[in-house]
Amino acid sequence: MRLIDHFVVGGPGGPAARLGDVFNPSTGAVQAQVPLGDAALLDRAVATAQAVQPKWAAMNPQRRARVLFKFKELIEQNMQSLAELLASEHGKVVDDAKGDVQRGLEVVEFCCGIPHMLKGEYTQGAGPGIDVYSLRAPLGVGAGITPFNFPAMIPMWMFAPAVAVGNTFILKPSERDPSVPNRLAELFLEAGAPEGVLQVVHGDKVMVDAILDHPGIAAVSFVGSSDIAHYVYSRGVAAGKRVQAMGGAKNHAIVMPDADMDQAVNDIMGAAYGSAGERCMALPVAVPVGDETADILREKLIAAIDKLKVGVSNDPEAQYGPVVTAVHKQKIENWIQTGVDEGAELVVDGRGFSLQGYEQGFFVGPSLFDHVTPEMSAYKEEIFGPVLQIVRAKTFEEAVELPTKHQYGNGVAIFTRNGHAAREFVSRVQVGMVGVNVPIPVPVSYHSFGGWKRSAFGDHNQYGMEGVRFWTKVKTVTQRWPDGGAGDSAFIIPTMG
Ligand code: NAD
Repeated sequence: MRLIDHFVVGGPGGPAARLGDVFNPSTGAVQAQVPLGDAALLDRAVATAQAVQPKWAAMNPQRRARVLFKFKELIEQNMQSLAELLASEHGKVVDDAKGDVQRGLEVVEFCCGIPHMLKGEYTQGAGPGIDVYSLRAPLGVGAGITPFNFPAMIPMWMFAPAVAVGNTFILKPSERDPSVPNRLAELFLEAGAPEGVLQVVHGDKVMVDAILDHPGIAAVSFVGSSDIAHYVYSRGVAAGKRVQAMGGAKNHAIVMPDADMDQAVNDIMGAAYGSAGERCMALPVAVPVGDETADILREKLIAAIDKLKVGVSNDPEAQYGPVVTAVHKQKIENWIQTGVDEGAELVVDGRGFSLQGYEQGFFVGPSLFDHVTPEMSAYKEEIFGPVLQIVRAKTFEEAVELPTKHQYGNGVAIFTRNGHAAREFVSRVQVGMVGVNVPIPVPVSYHSFGGWKRSAFGDHNQYGMEGVRFWTKVKTVTQRWPDGGAGDSAFIIPTMG
C-alpha cells in the first residue's frame, strides 16, 4: 500500500499513530494511506516555518516573485500528471481536473506581480518636515485548511498570496485527496523556494484543532462546509488569530422567460452536474420564472440528462465521474429520499446507478427534482451531488427573494436578455458572486472570491488584492527629520496643522 507522507522539513519522524484511507472513487478501492498528524508534528512544522520566515520576508519581493514565476512554469510542465493524480483521488474527470489546476495557477500568475502590490502609500509633507508612509508587512506563519473538492486550486488560492507577501505557510489539505497538495509543495521547492517556506501536514480534526490553538500561527484560511467553517472561525479568533473561513453553498440559477433557453440549459447542465455537483459554485437550484418557462426548461433538461455520460475519471468521453467516497454517495442518496419524502417530484432518479466493470465505484447518476419548495429541508441544505432542483417562481420578485433569503449566499446566476432585469437582480440579490448569463461566476484571479451569509465567516475574500490584505498587516510610519534645533515638548495630541 502506498503511504503518502507529510511534507515537512526533516521528514515525518517515525510511523504515524493513525492512518486514513485514500480511495480511487472510480473503483471503490483503497489506493493509498495518509498519516493523520498530531500536535507534536505541527510543533515541528511551525518551529521550522518560524525560523525560515524572517529570511524569506527579507528577500526582496522581486526575488520571491521569481520563485513564483518558476513555480508557474513547473505547474504548466506537469499539468497532465497533476490532473491525472488529482482525478484518481477525487473522481472528477481529467479535463475538469486540469481546470482545477489551471484556476489555481492563475492565482500564482497574479502573485507574480507582488512587488507592485506591496508598494504601500506615501504622503510627503503631512506636517512641517513630516512624511507619512504605510507598508504591508507579512503576518509570520500562516496556515490553510482545505476541502476535498478542489485539491489544487484552493491550496493555491491560499498559499500563493501568503508566501508572495513574505509569510511562511503550513497547508492542511483534505485527507481524502492529499497527493496533489504534496506534489505542489515539491514543485514549489524545485522552483527555488527555501525549505520550510511551504510545508504540508496531513490530518483530520486533531490536526485542525492543533492549528487553531497553536500560538505560533498568526492567521488561518479555511474552506469547507459551513458548520466547520464557523467552528474554525470561532476557535481561531478566540485564539487571537486572523481567520477567513469559507463555507457551503446552494446556488440558484434564475431563468427569465426571455432567456436563450438552449444556452441556459447547456450552462445549467454543466454547472449542476459537472464534477458530480461537488463544486461550491455549482448550480443545484434552477428557478424558472412562470410555469411556461418552467415546463420548457424541465423538458429540455430531461432531454439533456438523457444524453449525459457518466464514467470513470480517466474516460475522456465522460462528462462527470464518481463522487468522492462511499459515505458521500450515501449522503447524497439520502437527500434524494428526503426530497421525495418531503413531496418534491423526482423526475429523474440517479440512485442505483452502476457502471459495468466498476460496480464498486462511488457513482451517482444525475437526478432532477421539480416542484421543490423553500420549506423543504432538501432545498435548504447543501447536497453537494449531481442533484438539480427546480423551484418554480411566479414572478421576478419571488425569484430574487429565493437566493436572497437562503441561508447560503455564495453564487447565483440569472439568465435573461433583459438588461434592466439583470441590473435590478444584481443590485438586489444578497449573494457574494453573481453571474449574468454566466453559470459559474468564479471571479478571475485579479478580483476575489467570497460568499455572503453562511457561505463565509471573516472579513476578507480569497485571492486578488483581498488575499494580499488578508495575509498582511499595515504598518504606518510618521517620520520627521529635524534640522537639528530642539522643538518644544507638546503634552497634547500632536496635530499636523
Ligand atoms: P469539510 O468541511 O468536511 O472539510 C474541510 C476541511 O476541514 C478538511 O481539511 C477537513 O479535514 C477538515 N475537517 C473536517 N471535519 C472537521 C471537524 N469536525 N473539525 C475540524 N476540521 C474538520 O468539507 P469537504 O467535504 O472537504 O468539502 C466540501 C465542502 O466545502 C462543501 O460544503 C462546499 O460547499 C465547501 N466549499 C466551499 C467553498 C467556498 O469557497 N465557499 C469552496 C469549495 C468547497
